[in-house]
Amino acid sequence: MLLELQNVILKMVARGVSLETTLEALCREVENLLPDAIVSVLTVDKAGRLHPAASPSLPVSYSQSLEGTKIGTKGGSCGAAAYYKKSIAVLDISTDPRWEQYKELALPHGLKACWSSPIFGTTSDVIGTLALYYKQSRQPTALEQSIIEGCLPLCMIVLEHHERREKERHLAFTDITTGLGNRAAFSNVSNMVTDAPLTLLLIDIDNLKVVNDTFGHAAGDDLIKTVAHRLAALNPKLEVYRLGGDEFAVCVRSISSKNLETILKQIFGTIVQPAPCHGSIISPSITIGVAKRTQHRQSTEELYRQADLALHHAKEISRGSFVLYEKSMSTAISQRREKIRMVVRAIRDNRVEAWYQPIIRLATQEIVGVEALARIRTEEGSVLSASQFHEATADVQAANALTSRMISLIARDLSIWSDEGIDIAHVGINVSAVDIREGTVSRFLQSSFTAHGVPLNKVVLELTESFFIGRKDERIAEEIETLRSMGVKVALDDFGTGFASLTHLLTVPLDIIKIDKSFVEHIGLDIAGDGIIEGVLHIAKGLRIDCIAEGVETREQAVRLQEMGCKLGQGFLYSQAVPAQVIVSSLKKSNWGQRVE
Ligand code: C2E
Ligand code: CA
Ligand code: CA
Repeated sequence: MLLELQNVILKMVARGVSLETTLEALCREVENLLPDAIVSVLTVDKAGRLHPAASPSLPVSYSQSLEGTKIGTKGGSCGAAAYYKKSIAVLDISTDPRWEQYKELALPHGLKACWSSPIFGTTSDVIGTLALYYKQSRQPTALEQSIIEGCLPLCMIVLEHHERREKERHLAFTDITTGLGNRAAFSNVSNMVTDAPLTLLLIDIDNLKVVNDTFGHAAGDDLIKTVAHRLAALNPKLEVYRLGGDEFAVCVRSISSKNLETILKQIFGTIVQPAPCHGSIISPSITIGVAKRTQHRQSTEELYRQADLALHHAKEISRGSFVLYEKSMSTAISQRREKIRMVVRAIRDNRVEAWYQPIIRLATQEIVGVEALARIRTEEGSVLSASQFHEATADVQAANALTSRMISLIARDLSIWSDEGIDIAHVGINVSAVDIREGTVSRFLQSSFTAHGVPLNKVVLELTESFFIGRKDERIAEEIETLRSMGVKVALDDFGTGFASLTHLLTVPLDIIKIDKSFVEHIGLDIAGDGIIEGVLHIAKGLRIDCIAEGVETREQAVRLQEMGCKLGQGFLYSQAVPAQVIVSSLKKSNWGQRVE
């Protein structure tokens, strides 16, 4: 009989049936075997309090009244059994001192006697009690005793298995570093599509990477913990999760705009207080993206996407502050994402092409070099110019991938041309600031050019002003130094569009300055523009820096540029960027100088 009971219960444990249902089944099975008895299981927590777990045949009100009662000498049969760690048989509840405080609860229900045994866990702690109540004043029989003895280990298995599962569940939903709910816990909220108002704050710690690099990872971890604890302690209305790395989510249910403002003020006010982080004092700084559920039945996932967009926006325009999601953000940022995806896909499918625009000696109209410009062949076969996907290069991975692909295409083209007897002295390659900072350009150049047997002294890297101004970025300076030591030349692209003054720029060794087309456009139209070009040409000459005028579209511009002393130019007057084969045939023509098209 006992074996059958054990089988039933163990199967339920194995199937993951809930604790309550399993224990209720156990009580019923025992009651079937012992029709006189009413069975009850209580659990005992670490603080020594009792909690009803299952007692299907006891009145609910009676069971509930035991919730949270303390174990002890006067704790009824169960409290005493747990306290003394041995079975306690109370033959008459109405007279037994151990029931003094509880008898009024039991007697009205006709409960006269109660025999309770402690359930031990594997560590010998008492984790519960298994009790038989009788409606007569009597002792347990030998049969009852043997059945209960057989059930105690079973109860232990059921209770410990449940506790383990709860612990696992807790761990699966908890971030170990901070003790906050983790991404899985947050996803549980996300899975709900509801009508309930919800405001979502996505919080990102600013400059965590700098803290890690400067003060070490232990300080970075402390910073994360500080922010987590401060957020969690702020306001009981806030549900705080750590989504990973330096990102937190805070859910606020039902809140007015005014209160939201107060909460944001509270958050910023608390977070920025200086905190000790592994021996250093750091003032945390955070940026927040906020989205509010406005429509009915808007999923939390959608809300997350909006808060994420707002956060990205905030990181770009107002670090250390917050931005509330607006519809227009979706378009600007998702357009950029779409471009990044487009570039990444084009690289993967080999649809990136290197096109070349000739650089011309204005006096003779001969080609002295080329600038390589990236083109994407769409799946439909049309060609996109770089200005249509250029903003994707703000993304480190897309920029690096595009640069490495362009470099290998350029190296291959140069070696093909060289085999055909065409020796181009100068090929301009556009790189973005992130390429240089990552240190990938020198590696790519070295490996691709060596593989194709092309010397590196043909390469002119075109860098924009933003590389040089306002930042003493040592990694960029070092990388430029490395590149120059490899024989690579450096051109300052788009000169005049940024904020750099020429004196600023001269702190960096330069070989070429490319005068932006916005200046060339104004030639002959306003005196100021001409003056700037002349000034630049003059200073550059003194420093033996070559100048190339960009965007030369008319004969007048070309003539005027020469009068001002500019020797080199490029622009639609001579040629647009064209595919490698086209430029080769132009280069082969000795009478080069007309438009290629
Ligand atoms: P950029 O370096 O200033 O390149 C010159 C741009 O001006 C090119 O546009 C070129 O087609 C265009 N252009 C040339 N001559 C004329 C002219 O006479 N009139 C006018 N109106 N435009 C002219 P493109 O190819 O669309 O490139 C746009 C920008 O994208 C480039 O500006 C460059 O910053 C970037 N870019 C191009 N290729 C690459 C690349 O391989 N890597 C990276 N990182 N950026 C690239
Ligand atoms: Ca350029
Ligand atoms: Ca340019």
